[in-house]
Formats: sequence, C-alpha cells, structure tokens
Amino acid sequence: MFAQVILSISHNDIDRVFDYVVPEKFEGKAKLGMRVRVPFGKGGNITEGYIVGLKDTTDVPEDKIKNIVYMPDDFPVFNDTMLKLAYWMHRRYFTTLSRCIQTITPSGIKDKTDYYKNVKYIKIGDNFADSLIKYENSKKSEKKRLILKYVLENGEMPLSVLRNSINSADYAIKTLREEKALEVYDKKVLAEPYINSLNEESSVVELNDEQKAVIDKWDKERIAENRPILIHGVTGSGKTEIYMNMIEKIISEGKQAIVLVPEISLTPMMTGRFMKRFGNKAAVTHSKMNFRERFNCWKRVQDGNISVVIGPRSALFMPFERLGIVIIDEEHEKSYVSETSPAYDAVETAEKLCSFTGASLVMGTATPSVRTYYRCTENKVVYIPLEKRAVKGSRQPEIEIVDMRKELEEGNRTVFSRSLFEKMTKNLENGRQTMLFINRRGYSTFVSCRSCGYVMKCTHCDVSYKYHATSGKLVCHYCGETVARPEVCPVCGSKYIRYFGTGTQKVEEEVKKYFSTARVLRMDMDTVSGKNGYSNILNKFADGEADILVGTQMIAKGHDFKNVTLVGILAADMSLNTGEFDSEEKTYQLITQVAGRAGRAELEGKVVVQTYSPDNEAIKLAVKGNAKEFYEREISFRKTLGYPPCKASIYIEFNGKNQKNTAECAVMAAYEFRKNEEFEILGPVPEYISKIKDEYRYRLIVHSADDLMLMNRAREIYDKLRDEFENLGVYMKPKTEGIRI
Ligand code: ADP
Ligand code: ZN
Ligand code: ZN
Repeated sequence: MFAQVILSISHNDIDRVFDYVVPEKFEGKAKLGMRVRVPFGKGGNITEGYIVGLKDTTDVPEDKIKNIVYMPDDFPVFNDTMLKLAYWMHRRYFTTLSRCIQTITPSGIKDKTDYYKNVKYIKIGDNFADSLIKYENSKKSEKKRLILKYVLENGEMPLSVLRNSINSADYAIKTLREEKALEVYDKKVLAEPYINSLNEESSVVELNDEQKAVIDKWDKERIAENRPILIHGVTGSGKTEIYMNMIEKIISEGKQAIVLVPEISLTPMMTGRFMKRFGNKAAVTHSKMNFRERFNCWKRVQDGNISVVIGPRSALFMPFERLGIVIIDEEHEKSYVSETSPAYDAVETAEKLCSFTGASLVMGTATPSVRTYYRCTENKVVYIPLEKRAVKGSRQPEIEIVDMRKELEEGNRTVFSRSLFEKMTKNLENGRQTMLFINRRGYSTFVSCRSCGYVMKCTHCDVSYKYHATSGKLVCHYCGETVARPEVCPVCGSKYIRYFGTGTQKVEEEVKKYFSTARVLRMDMDTVSGKNGYSNILNKFADGEADILVGTQMIAKGHDFKNVTLVGILAADMSLNTGEFDSEEKTYQLITQVAGRAGRAELEGKVVVQTYSPDNEAIKLAVKGNAKEFYEREISFRKTLGYPPCKASIYIEFNGKNQKNTAECAVMAAYEFRKNEEFEILGPVPEYISKIKDEYRYRLIVHSADDLMLMNRAREIYDKLRDEFENLGVYMKPKTEGIRI
C-alpha cells in the first residue's frame, strides 16, 4: 500500500502529493488525515507530512520510493470534509495546500509528539460492594450513598467530574477512598473532560412572536433550498436567544453546531450564556488559550463529546462529523478575515463548509456587510429583519449630530462639544455612566512643525508617527518604531512643534481636566495587554468602578452595561477618509454599533455624534437609523463604479524592498491581465500607505463580470509570474473580493 503525502513545509516548489510506502507495521494505522514522518529530499531529512490519500500502485520507481518511518498519533488530524475545505482554500486564497492543511489541523500540533496528559481518575475499589451495603440504609451517610450510586451508574470518571457533580463531596470521597470503596489512579489521556455545571438560574426565555417567526422561516428554508440566512436586528433584539433555540433543535436532531463570534466578544458574559444553556455539551476556544487547552477542545469534539463550539474564526475547523449549523454572529466583522496566510474569509469559508456538509448557515448582525445585504437582494441569502428590541421597555437611544466646525468657530477648542459636555455633566450628577468612543489610540494623530509644516514620519513606513503622552515618545503604529519626541524641528530647527488631532490618551486627559471628580478608564491596545487585560477593564466598568470609559473600536462590541446612558462618538468622520471603497460602510457600521451601547436597559439612552462632515450621507443615515436607505444607496453607488460586491474584483498587492522592481512587476502583471479584453484594469498605483517596514507597496485592481474566469485567469498569472517576481524580491499578495467560486 502507498500513502499520498503532503509535506508540512509550505513552499510552492514542493506543494504537491508525494508517494510513500506504508510499511506493514503501519498498515492498520495509515489513514486519511494521519500525521507521518517521512524522509525527504537529497539528504533524506525526516519531515512531517499528512496522509491525503491511499492507493495500491505508484508511478515512483521502486529504487526511488521511500518508507513512512514514523506515525506520531493514534488519530487523524483532519477528516475528508476538512481536506476538501483545505483544497478549496488553496485555490481560493492563493496559498499552498500545505499551509491550508496546517490551518485545518489543531493549531500548534505540528512537530509535537508527546501531548498526553496525566489526569486523576476514580473507579470502583476492592471494598466497593461492602461499602454500598454498609451505607445503603444508613440515614447519616447520604452523601456517601450518593457518590457510590453515581460511580456505579457512570463507571470510571475523572475525579474532577465527580467532585463537580456532587456538591461538597470532598470529605465523603476521602473517607470512601480510605476504606477502599473507591480508588484514585493516574490516567494518561489526550483530552481532559471538564465540567460546566448546568446552572438552574438559566431560565429558558419564551421566544416572542417575532423570534418564533424567524425560527419558522429558518426551518422551512432548511428543508427547501437551505440558503444562508441573515438575521438583521439591532443589539438587544434577541438574536442570541434565537441562535440558542436553533442549536437546541439541531442537537435534538443528533447534529452539532459551531458558533463564530469575533474574538473580542468572547467575554465571560457572552460564553456564559451558552455554557449555562448547553452545559457539558458546549466548549469554548479562543486564541489566548495555550496549545494544550485548544487541543483539549479539538479532541473532545473529535471524540464526539461536544455538540456546540463557540469560538473565533478558527473554530470553523472543528472536526465535527455531523455538523448541522454554523452561526456567525456580527457577520460584518473584519476579524473574520484572517490576516495571515491563508487570508481566508471565515464567512465565505463557512458557506463552503455548509455546502459540503448540508449544514445550515445563519448570520446575524445589527449592521450587515454590504456584501451580504447585496446577496439578499439577489435572493442568494434569505433576509430576515428583527424590528423590535426583545426586552420590554428598552428603547432606541436618542441620537444627535453636532457640527464640530461650528464649535470651533464659536470658540470651543476642547474635544467635547457643548452639548456633549452638558450631558456628561448631568450624567455624572445622576450617577450614570458614559462611554466615549474615539477611533484612535495614543495621544495625538500626528506631530508637525508649526513653522515649516514638516510632519514627523516613520523612516520605514509611509505613515506619520503617533505621540504617546505617557512615554513621551513618537511611535509608528505600523512597525512599532519608537523615537524620542523632538525638541526642535529636524528640518528647520524651529522650537514650535505642534501635536495635532485626538487620540484616546488625549481624551482621557481632557476628561480629567474638565471633570475632575470623574473616575476614568481607558481601553485601547496600550491598556489591554495581558491575558485578562481586556475583561479586567470591562469588569471594572460594569461593576461601576468608573464613571467614564474612553476607548477605541474595542468598546463598540457587544457589551451590555446597564448603567450606560450616554455615548459620545468624538470624531465620527475619522473612518471616512481612508481611501478605500468601503469607507462609508465602515463609518455607518461604527456609528450604528457604538450608538447601540446606550440605554440597553430600562434607562433612556442618549448618543452624541460629533463630526466635521455633518452632511455625509453615511453619517446621517446611521444617525437616523435608516438601514434600508443606506444599503440601497451604497449598492447603487458600487454598481455604478463597478466595486465589489456588485462586480467581482481581484486586488493584488505587490511588496518589495526595491521600489523600481516592485513597480515594474506590477506593470508586468497588469500587462498579462490586459490580454483578456473582458477585464477592466485599474492601476498599478502606489498603495494609500506606500511603504511599510521598508517595503514598497503597489496595487493592481482587476474587475470582471465573470467571477470564475477572473479567478482562473488570476490563478494562472499568479502561478506563471510568481517565481520570476520572487527572484526579483517582489511578492504578490492577491486578495479577492466579492468573488464566488
Ligand atoms: P442580541 O443577541 O440580538 O443582542 P439577545 O438575545 O442577547 O439579543 O437579547 C437581549 C436581551 O433580551 C437578553 O438579556 C435576553 O435574555 C433578552 N431576551 C431575548 N429574547 C427574549 C424574550 N423572548 N423574552 C424575554 N427576554 C428576552
Ligand atoms: Zn514604521
Ligand atoms: Zn520646521
């Protein structure tokens, strides 16, 4: 027998199947998805690989073919569905198959061999029967009787499980061990079961009619075309309750569920709801877990002990055998697109996974991506709006736009408009909490010379430095380069250096200056370092240890603070001028999401949106809460200009240390695309940020009405030019938007 092996080395030259002999001793073990060690290359170095197929014959001559030398595991690290998904990602995201296989296997397992773990187990001891009789009729020993019965019924189990299942059983267990009714021993296991105690308090809420109607529609669609579903409802409209009902139904059908949430919303508050509802059938995974913890979750899924996994985008690759549903909360979130290779988009990858397995795909958000909304208008996705808030009495907040140009004209130079200032003062007096949102971390946006106008820029990147007040340093947010704050202008020597704009630190300082009695917390990348930094700040705020929370995007997401009645968006237009086609979409989403933080309980909420462009349509429609108009307007705009999702486009970034080579390669690639007359080519042009970490950046955009043709042609050109370009030190990074293959 021969095994077809993909090596775990990600390189284009060796990204194909290699045949190896399966020696007799591995014959029962060699299966699809198993890891192997094989000799490779001239030196015959032992390399890790994965079996992707088995066969009886091979074209490799007998004197050339080599043996599999070692198999580290007793279980496969992927199944055939996952392998299919890896092949699809390989084609879709211009990455090696090897890298895609690594993506679908438990992360961190590569090259690991010994990851068994000692766990204390309990089993029936020599004197079990005697004790059982002894305690059977004794009124005083109820706990002991309970424990013995439990072990009798369930057999051997981890000690922790027993202790968690029966309240304050430690003393009784100790006695039973001493009389040898029970025996504790060490067991080497791959995955350690853990216990989420089912909480009686988690009273299941009765769905309201609107929610029930969603479940009905979903059920009908599952039987009919099984198209993906989009639930469009504001935060608090009861989407999570709907998800949990769907999952219950799926579990009752003997199937399994994946729930994707943005990493940042994996708060104890959020995961706790699922844990309480599904108890030991549910598991959470996230990127802050170590290998052992993540592997534990993965293995329990493989062993069939878990029915629901809640996690970030990588939870998509859990090895379920009977997947029934994939739920994607906050569908519009950017974090669903991987930043490392393969740059997969979890939303479309989930759709592919569902098409392979027949599982249903349910997405939910208060601010759909324009892409998904557009697909609803094409009937490719079922659109279900949720109009009401689920909790009685809670209302949409009252939103006000403030024109900051006018504030300046009338002599207000602070970061707070007069209206916001007044409301903050009142809120403080009433003991209510306020959230202030600013789209930037750090102190100032940029530092410039007042005399000559010179702007301090990073020497490695085409971006200006940010000033961090606490350290008094200038920091490049792209490469991390940090330099001392200049005493004089490096160009003209002037002493007048100016710090422009506003960041989280600056806002924090201003709050302290104008509201000296207020207790302030700040949340941005600088303050949330460490494993629990993020939840520490949120918990403090939720516990009322601060009056005002200042933060970046991080505070925009799914937290439910009952006492927050005022939200200030300090510069709503900051996300507008990014030079991207979707900047209005991002602005609309941000305002809508942040505004949703106000008044989540019975208290009335107020939102103040400060902007220098009060006439911008995205801002106005977000403030009015007019979703339909926003999406229709945006889609017609993109149709006219041929932007995704209305037209398929491929966007290729060219990176290289040599500017001339980088530009020339981009031109060469454009030339290849021009051979197809159906394609519309934009560029190449330098990127909006033309240099990062000493690498020059150019972009080329190709539009087409035909997804598949564009995709195939791009793949051909990529394969043809890649090696040539890499020899010149230029790297192509294709990104594909709005393409369906
Ligand atoms: P979303 O996920 O859309 O933000 P949730 O499902 O979290 O909404 O619901 C918001 C709040 O309303 C939660 O506290 C939830 O328990 C409650 N809730 C949801 N549906 C109902 C219902 N039918 N009856 C009573 N309370 C509900
Ligand atoms: Zn830099
Ligand atoms: Zn100067």
